Amino acid sequence: MCGIVGYKGKRQVKNILLEGLKALEYRGYDSSGIAFKNDKEIQVIKSVGKISNLEEKLEKEKLIKCDMGIAHTRWATHGGPNEVNAHPHTSGKVTLVHNGIIENAHELKERLIEDGVEFKSETDTEVACALINSYYDNDMVKAINKACKDIVGSYAFAIMVEGDDKIYGVRKDSPLILGVGEDDLFLASDIAAIIDYTDKYILLDELEIVEISSDGYAITKNGRSVDKKVLTADLSSEARDKCGYDHFMLKEIMEEPVVLKKTLDPYIEDLDKLIDVSKYEEIHIVACGSAYYAGMIGKSLLEEKAGIRVVCDVASEYRYKKIIYDRKTLVILISQSGETADTIAAMRKAKEEKIDTLAIVNVKGSTIARESDMQVFIEAGPEIAVATTKAYILQVAIISLMAYKAAIKKGLEKDKNILKDFDILPRMLKEVLDRREEYLEIANEIYNKEDIFFIGRKIDYSICMEGSLKLKEVSYIHSEAYQAGELKHGTISLIEDDMPVFGILTDKDVREKTISNIEEVKSRGAKIIVITNEACNKYDLEVVVPKISDYCQAVLVVPVLQLIAYEVAKTRGCDIDKPKNLAKSVTVE
Ligand code: GLU
Repeated sequence: MCGIVGYKGKRQVKNILLEGLKALEYRGYDSSGIAFKNDKEIQVIKSVGKISNLEEKLEKEKLIKCDMGIAHTRWATHGGPNEVNAHPHTSGKVTLVHNGIIENAHELKERLIEDGVEFKSETDTEVACALINSYYDNDMVKAINKACKDIVGSYAFAIMVEGDDKIYGVRKDSPLILGVGEDDLFLASDIAAIIDYTDKYILLDELEIVEISSDGYAITKNGRSVDKKVLTADLSSEARDKCGYDHFMLKEIMEEPVVLKKTLDPYIEDLDKLIDVSKYEEIHIVACGSAYYAGMIGKSLLEEKAGIRVVCDVASEYRYKKIIYDRKTLVILISQSGETADTIAAMRKAKEEKIDTLAIVNVKGSTIARESDMQVFIEAGPEIAVATTKAYILQVAIISLMAYKAAIKKGLEKDKNILKDFDILPRMLKEVLDRREEYLEIANEIYNKEDIFFIGRKIDYSICMEGSLKLKEVSYIHSEAYQAGELKHGTISLIEDDMPVFGILTDKDVREKTISNIEEVKSRGAKIIVITNEACNKYDLEVVVPKISDYCQAVLVVPVLQLIAYEVAKTRGCDIDKPKNLAKSVTVE
């Protein structure tokens, strides 16, 4: 789930591992740790909280001389975030770090306890460590292979063992790459951790084991050596710089017009390049979090404009439910990282059923990009802030353009000018973003509230879902998105004097209906903030965004809510780029 860095080479191991952890810091974590190794010993240092705490601890310790080490940021799944549970873990001769979840940890632990193994932590990781140690008999690759046969779950491991001078890596359902430097080698869960030292890397495939030694590297699968292509990453280290902004979240919101243009331009030039989904009779859109809310917008447009039946589901449900489909069904998976565990599982389930799969992803070499049948890439570049902004906007834009293309193909859309709207969208969005002062004024009105509602109908409701999620994620204010017409069936009892209610009014077909619902909460004392494409001039606060075709409207509204969430979080002094309890790409179930 969180971050792994490993290094073997002549440079200062401590600096490389620490810098790597800092580069992964954006993903969110609760504790961290490092293990250094030389011929004689392995030294482990761990700390709770920020990487700077680990750094301080390392300053105070007398560190061993070494040419290799492994490091980890943990996002706890088994056992609280304390120093004992932090990685690396050691059992017998083996020390390792782990991303993921060992699902059968409990069973394996009981078996190992019967064999006399003692455990110090509550983690599933220590169980894996003990298991590998129990199989180790001077042949680490063999021990790893055996352990992998026993382990059910997801993992990326970086492993060191007393008595040899290698680092080993293996993965299943959790990313791990081998970084290839001029005369040194790296292991990392994300290229961002090592990009300052090398842009050359090898993507490890499932259950391939890499051995890193002073002589180079070897990769094997089931005992047989495998040849791998060395790839070049196009991620520059500036992409990780805040470029003068106070936070990555703000920088990334401000980048939206540029990445939107980059993503849309090739298709505006030639719409034939975009995958045509009009031949499908039913589409299942499957995703998690914000990507799911982007999917909800896609569902509205595909249904209303292109007349295709659409089911939109969260991946953690879809992967376990009975899916009803036929040969004319398409599954669209949306994931920024392409590594979201639940979305990967949903994709694999669809593939097992032989349903066509199409992925909308940001990261090209990711698991979802590689395993899906068709791909559409968004060009968000690295997104560092944990709360997604620019990647979400691009997901919405791409799926909306797909709906437009399908509507044209099916003869249901006659307006050829709509492509022009997509063309001017980045410029219009820039104008919307430039009005930050207005949003700050709204943030100042709501930052000290405890509960906030967002109401809207149809697409406006999907916009509410994302606006509410963004506010919750970064400012920790409780908020709820509600279908405007549904509020009176119970939830309206929560409305109190001065409680902020955002009303989203962009869909002309339901505008008057939503206004009636806004009036209902207004008359019960709510403070009304309207975001609309047509002025009402009668509420406490109002933002009017430019009116554009239905396909493009959400792209001009959600960024306003993103900026309000940002300003609120900033005023409340929250850790905006790394909100508590959250991690960037959710690679565990
Ligand atoms: N499941 C492991 C733990 O709770 C690893 C979590 C992670 O991926 O950071 O320690």
